Amino acid sequence: MNNKVEMRNTGDATMAGTTTPDLEIPYESCLIEGIPDPCMIVIVGASGDLTARKIIPALFNLFLNDGLPDPFLVVGCARTKMSNQEFRDKMKNALLTAGILDDQKWQDFSKSLYYQAIDYVESPSFKALAGSLRKLDIKNGTGGNRIFYLAIPPSLYKSTAHMLGEVGLSVEDENGNGWVRIVVEKPFGRDLDSAIDLDRSLHEHFREHQIFRIDHYLAKETVQNILMFRFANAIFEPIWNRRYIDHVSITAAETLGVEHRAGYYEQAGVLRDMFQNHMMQLLALTAMDPPSVFEADRVRDEKVKVYRTMRPFPTDDLQGYLVLGQYGAGTIDGKKVPAYRDEPGINPDSLTPTFARMKVFLDNWRWQGVPFYLTSGKRLAKKITEIIIQFKEVPHSMFREILGEHITANRLIMGIYPDEKISLTFQTKNPGARVCLRSVTMDFHYHQNYNGPILDAYEKVLLDCMLGDHMLFWRQDGVELCWSFLTPILKECETCGDRAKLLLPYKSGTSGPEVAKNMMK
Ligand code: NDP
Repeated sequence: MNNKVEMRNTGDATMAGTTTPDLEIPYESCLIEGIPDPCMIVIVGASGDLTARKIIPALFNLFLNDGLPDPFLVVGCARTKMSNQEFRDKMKNALLTAGILDDQKWQDFSKSLYYQAIDYVESPSFKALAGSLRKLDIKNGTGGNRIFYLAIPPSLYKSTAHMLGEVGLSVEDENGNGWVRIVVEKPFGRDLDSAIDLDRSLHEHFREHQIFRIDHYLAKETVQNILMFRFANAIFEPIWNRRYIDHVSITAAETLGVEHRAGYYEQAGVLRDMFQNHMMQLLALTAMDPPSVFEADRVRDEKVKVYRTMRPFPTDDLQGYLVLGQYGAGTIDGKKVPAYRDEPGINPDSLTPTFARMKVFLDNWRWQGVPFYLTSGKRLAKKITEIIIQFKEVPHSMFREILGEHITANRLIMGIYPDEKISLTFQTKNPGARVCLRSVTMDFHYHQNYNGPILDAYEKVLLDCMLGDHMLFWRQDGVELCWSFLTPILKECETCGDRAKLLLPYKSGTSGPEVAKNMMK
């Protein structure tokens, strides 16, 4: 295995250094953590987009990598009437579209797919479902282990969880023979009150250990790597604080517009769509203290501590801490794209923000006074997700006489997309008799020493759910703390008289409203 760390001059010249791994673990042993118990996954809303684009491709890939238990069943449910065969054909098409159809493997996988039409508000319909699941369990030996995946619009979460409970489908076998889990997709509410209300409804029939609040973002390899990088190396933690770090910038930028999700996005906007979940998770992973053990609740405890320290937003000085924008027409990758308000299904007078930059402070010893800039937006110049740790400049420059006062400070970038990498920029001497500095960057590319298959985010969360591991799922206290932070901001933005003034236009294909740049100066 050739483990190269590439060093490149920021001016693009390249150098190469070599590392030797202490321990080489064959990738096969890292791919799958363990084979779950035989079980069935009941997808409620199986006629929809998420099932076809994410859930079924993820399950099929797990099947290809021997990551599914045997026996394993998928039972699709929705109002649309379909036979088992029609459901199988639809899912086969979905795999074809995803470009991962393997005809031979499909023959085996498809045998585990079933479908039953249901009405989400009719109790007899759920009773019939319960009967069918029982029969499938007995016939296939899935042992009563069931995951109910709510792949339906959020407005149906509460009633569906209630229906499942009412017909006894939430009940676990007291002797441990037959577990029941429920997976809830984001968004978990649209503000603090609705999040509390949803949680109360889920707990009417399900207990906390049965509830899996999914945020697939957390399962991306490079997002998980943040914790490994920070806490499996001794050299970074001592400088990971206000003494050495000037600011932190967390960006999740997209080139895509609202696509086919106009109805959802008009109601959500960038703050609900990206900040309440993904951005808050990246913030927590970057800022949290090390947990005593790498275990679901200890990790989630530390994240929650970060959320508790978020300084409440000064809603009377919103513009000093928040820039909101909405994309206008422009050009991306050489193609003309329309303004948000001209997209199909969007209100032509819409005041929904598609861009936000937020300055957040954490009131604790480690981070006092260090701004965290969180940025996310649609139709920006490039699709990129990264965390930049900007270190402080040297306290005193002994090169002042020769080079002037300013020496570029160190910078660490944790790239999540498209470059899955870690880069550290530092100063070196330029070869030659004159004293000249140059910035060089040392890069580690995540896939550099690994050519094996990797689990995509949905594969990982589905597998974890089957294994009963909550590590990568939201806990309700975290959800509520994030909503407590965001709800006053949303209220102020959505109800203040100057609402239109708060929303700055930006051209598609740029880096957002010009004003946003000033915030980081
Ligand atoms: P869809 O809009 O495709 O809806 C899924 C299914 O729900 C539909 O096929 C339909 O099935 C049923 N449905 C839709 N609208 C209604 C309605 N008004 N009343 C009753 N039933 C309805 O949703 P997605 O599959 O896109 O998403 C499912 C969940 O996952 C949502 O909560 C979404 O927020 C979340 N999510 C989706 C992502 C995605 O990429 N799609 C990404 C992240 C989260 P039928 O008519 O047959 O009953």
